[in-house]
Amino acid sequence: MVQSSILGFPRMGVNRDLKKATEAFWAGKIPKEELLSEGKRLRLEHWQLQKKAGVDIIPSNDFAFYDQVLDHIHLFGVVPERYSKYNLSDLDEYFAMGRGLQRPEKDGEPAVDVPSLEMVKWFDSNYHYVKPTLQDNQTFKLSGTAKPVTEFKEAKDAGILTRPVLLGPVSFLALAKADRGQSVDPISLLDKLLPLYEDVLMQLKDAGAESVQIDEPVLVFDLPTKVKNAFQPAYEKIGALGSKAPKIVLATYFGDIVHNIGVLDSLKGLYAIHVDLVRNPEQLDTVLGALGPEQTLSAGVVDGRNIWKTNFQRAIETVETIVQKLGKDRVIVSSSSSLLHTPHTLASEKKLDPEVKDWFSFAVEKADELVIIAKAVSEGPAAVRSALEANAKSMQARASSARTNDPKVKDRQAKVTEDMHKRASPFPTRIAQQQKRLNLPKFPTTTIGSFPQTKEIRIQRNKFVKNEITAEEYEKFIEKEIQDVVRIQEELDLDVFVHGEPERNDMVQYFGERLNGYEFTTHAWVQSYGSRCVRPPIIVGDISRPAPMSVKESKYAASISKKPMKGMLTGPITCLRWSFPRDDVHQSVQAQQLALALRDEVVDLEAAGIYVIQVDEPALREGLPLRAGKERERYLQWAVNSFRLSTAGVEDGTQIHSHFCYSEFQDFFYAIAALDADVLSIENSKSDAKLLKVFVDEAYPRHIGPGVYDIHSPRVPSEQEIKDRIQEMLQYLKPDQLWIDPDCGLKTRQWSETKAALTNMVNAAKYFRSKY
Ligand code: GLN
Ligand code: ZN
Repeated sequence: MVQSSILGFPRMGVNRDLKKATEAFWAGKIPKEELLSEGKRLRLEHWQLQKKAGVDIIPSNDFAFYDQVLDHIHLFGVVPERYSKYNLSDLDEYFAMGRGLQRPEKDGEPAVDVPSLEMVKWFDSNYHYVKPTLQDNQTFKLSGTAKPVTEFKEAKDAGILTRPVLLGPVSFLALAKADRGQSVDPISLLDKLLPLYEDVLMQLKDAGAESVQIDEPVLVFDLPTKVKNAFQPAYEKIGALGSKAPKIVLATYFGDIVHNIGVLDSLKGLYAIHVDLVRNPEQLDTVLGALGPEQTLSAGVVDGRNIWKTNFQRAIETVETIVQKLGKDRVIVSSSSSLLHTPHTLASEKKLDPEVKDWFSFAVEKADELVIIAKAVSEGPAAVRSALEANAKSMQARASSARTNDPKVKDRQAKVTEDMHKRASPFPTRIAQQQKRLNLPKFPTTTIGSFPQTKEIRIQRNKFVKNEITAEEYEKFIEKEIQDVVRIQEELDLDVFVHGEPERNDMVQYFGERLNGYEFTTHAWVQSYGSRCVRPPIIVGDISRPAPMSVKESKYAASISKKPMKGMLTGPITCLRWSFPRDDVHQSVQAQQLALALRDEVVDLEAAGIYVIQVDEPALREGLPLRAGKERERYLQWAVNSFRLSTAGVEDGTQIHSHFCYSEFQDFFYAIAALDADVLSIENSKSDAKLLKVFVDEAYPRHIGPGVYDIHSPRVPSEQEIKDRIQEMLQYLKPDQLWIDPDCGLKTRQWSETKAALTNMVNAAKYFRSKY
């Protein structure tokens, strides 16, 4: 029979219970025992609801208090000395690696001050994992009670036989790095690490596990030969355990494995291979051709990364093709990846319009979908007839709904021309006209947009949302905030002002709420890292802008200030990437719709007398396809085009800025140059100024403001520090090309820090102005 399976379940709980418990523990409000028991309660609840749904293969060890990779770091004892030296409790050490720990001496216990390990994006998702950090003389040792075994037993005691999940040895090492000052090549440690995997697998077998899921997601990357070659010895060893270990399902996701298909040869001894057929359905034939004669295929046909209802007809067809080739007993129907990237349950959404609600499916609902698909293939469609009919109806309704299709938007897209992507004149002409209009000094100073979002701002916004104050009262309050921000910028003597973004809850949601085609949820939280969750808006239909979105605030700010006012917008790619996108039209189409809406906004800002306009694209790089090559080039092409389409509608004399929260552009510099933004502000204070070299090498002619101080920390940089930083930048950038600004927006900072830091920044700029 075809079985159903889930690769991982969201761990936060229906009301972000895990977030609340961990944060309470960190704040010292609940004891460790309470946190542990809350974790236990959540695990049990999630196993039970999957079981109740009828899912055949339920994961365990997918739970983590902070991050699943950090769990493995802890499991294998990969704890740098800077943490272990404090002899903290297990849990404290674990969280210290995840988020750093700073605490004063207390009751004879010494003070602790250690930053977190590095945290990086998990493939191309918005989840972040803790990077394993290795030493040259690294050794590995299983932590006393191996978590995968403990949690397996915990589920078994509750009457649920689970399939434990492990991050595979090759991926664990390939995703690791040498610690600062160390030169070890992580993959060279494979031989030392493997015995621990063997140990855990045998313990799991002894505990009664029938199968284990080993994730090797790095198979979707272009792999260095050494890493690619590591699969054979690793899985030969593991395979040699034979019946001493559970059956192994090797899972890949977020991409195709066709370019690494040769690796499957060395995995033929494993029970099953899992592939993501939502993202890359076209890999199916190649993968089927590469399977061993008895191997099972786990077919990821239910999207683990998005919130749309699965198209049963399509999924069932795919699974049936596989069944024809392999037979029912060699097919597992599965989520494409862990469901970690989807919200918990649609049942929590009480405010969604029933029409659109019917198109969504969150983790709990996806469990039901998997069971239905497996049943339809195992027993025939008659067994689930009504579910199939309802699904077909829902698909139909969505495809033909007026909410998804707006002929006016499509019509406008059909009329987009090449010329609409181009500014009227090249940069030298533009900058001359902008200079005439703006009259800026050398080393102009500005900020990235937001100023401190104070408690008062949040209180007033909440009151407004809850109808406790009127729109006029709220507007008055925002105007007052803008006045304050303008006055402070005058005192600081900055050159290009901003209005401070007090009216914005979030840089994507704010615009989404003002566009047609977006929907918002109340509970659809997804873990981003640690206890942090995000609630992305959902793009459901063709996007258009019914009315100006930011003109009122910018215009007001300009009317009360002496200096040029910069209008602030979130770019099309960032709006797309930080939302759940549609799965029924290509993302390039959605980006173009967003671009057209923003284009109107940009033109309206200009007409309102705003002659500096910044379009933020911090998410441009994270959308880069995981592998270099054609797919990446295509992405960059439509991403760049959407930025240009949104900004090219203005006159030469209007200055277009863009902002990125990073400074590693080496791999795709041509695309950054192709944006043709007059001024780029980028993160640079935490990165090496050498990264700016690419701007010299490529003879980048336009203006750049590399951030001169880190806004993530409350620390106030001294004037001298900023001067030194600017001096360093001048090794790479020309004096008349350099802007002076912070790394990013200031919304998370306090006012006192902000004023002090900006004072030093402006003074540093003035110093260079007097020198050049
Ligand atoms: N304009 C935004 C701000 O200042 C930019 C934020 C970002 O780049 N993430 O808050
Ligand atoms: Zn930023």
